Amino acid sequence: MKIRSKLPDLGTTIFSVMSGLANKHKAINLSQGFPNFDCDERLKQLVSHYVNSGYNQYCPMTGLPRLTEVLAAKIKNLYGSDYDSKTEINVTSGATQAIFSTIQAFVHPGDEVIIVEPAYDCYQPSVLLAGGLVVPYQIKAPDWKIDWKEFAKLISNKTRMIMLNTPHNPSGSILEDADFLELQKIVEGTDIIILSDEVYEHMVYDGKKHYSIMEYPALRKRSLATFSFGKTLHATGWKLGYIVGDAALMHEFRKVHQFDVFTSNTPFQHAIADYLQDENTYMGLAPFFQQKRDFFLDKIKDSPFVFTPCSGTYFQVADYSAISDEPDTEFAKRMTIEHGVAVIPISVFYHNNLDNKVVRFCFAKTEEVLENAAELICRINSGKLI
Ligand code: PMP
Ligand code: GLN
Repeated sequence: MKIRSKLPDLGTTIFSVMSGLANKHKAINLSQGFPNFDCDERLKQLVSHYVNSGYNQYCPMTGLPRLTEVLAAKIKNLYGSDYDSKTEINVTSGATQAIFSTIQAFVHPGDEVIIVEPAYDCYQPSVLLAGGLVVPYQIKAPDWKIDWKEFAKLISNKTRMIMLNTPHNPSGSILEDADFLELQKIVEGTDIIILSDEVYEHMVYDGKKHYSIMEYPALRKRSLATFSFGKTLHATGWKLGYIVGDAALMHEFRKVHQFDVFTSNTPFQHAIADYLQDENTYMGLAPFFQQKRDFFLDKIKDSPFVFTPCSGTYFQVADYSAISDEPDTEFAKRMTIEHGVAVIPISVFYHNNLDNKVVRFCFAKTEEVLENAAELICRINSGKLI
């Protein structure tokens, strides 16, 4: 029997590959983005409470109403924007599902979708499965900035969607107010939809602010934003998130969502609804992760890696060109196998595998793990291992 693959060129996601390699070689895993510490005890108790109290059947397709109400209040509080909890917010099975369902809902065969590369790896396959064409715009080390004049040149009458990600994985850069104002200008008068991936909204450092697409009234009618409880609650394995957008867009999103997953885990939604009543649960994330970033960077400052502290996310990219000329995929493998620290190569997030000689470290780890990893990283400097 002949199988006609819909994604013939696609391999296994780099996150599974590098975590697999880290486990195989017992390397410290700073590759795939997940904390090595547990989520809050109180949150776990809330989950057991709701499981044990029988909250175990389907909840509404749009999400648990009291959770979407908490989210509407949080959005109003943080971004000053009004989104209706019933018609404009939907709980999803992670940001990945929100992204997939959104793309399936809006992208028609032959439509173009502009993606900022390096791009989180679920974007491109989701567009291809909808029959869309990916139009890449590349940002590059060390400043990872979008030149909006160049970006605007990619817009055609086939452009259906622009996908943004701020704070940006893997570069750790963020979009500023000026970026959104430029974006506003270039989409004015078009039918382009914007999907803004903001899963790291609470991880922005050095007193900088997270600008959300939801804050720009001129962009409201055309925008959806995605979020991840996995990131915000240190519970990536729960695969829960949400999407926010204007009612007319959400109406179309729900047509796909209802047959993609229909609904997401009920008792966890109850637990999260209780937990997020206290805004300290998420407002403390920036100082918490900034401290980890600073701790790690201080420990590797004398290594041959060159870096500028990231502005957001829990990822730090670093240039390794003082150590090796080899491609970043090879270097990442060797870091894992020979030096005991697994990292993510960045070239895999570019359609043409652009190799800037940078790798990504995840610093969502305990200080002990960061310290041990840093020690191995610094040994590379001393010439003991290379
Ligand atoms: N977008 C980006 C930029 C991510 O880094 C991730 C990984 N958390 C996701 C989306 C997917 O999030 P989730 O695990 O909630 O599906
Ligand atoms: N978002 C995580 C990262 O960037 C990984 C998610 C996944 O493994 N698919 O590392």
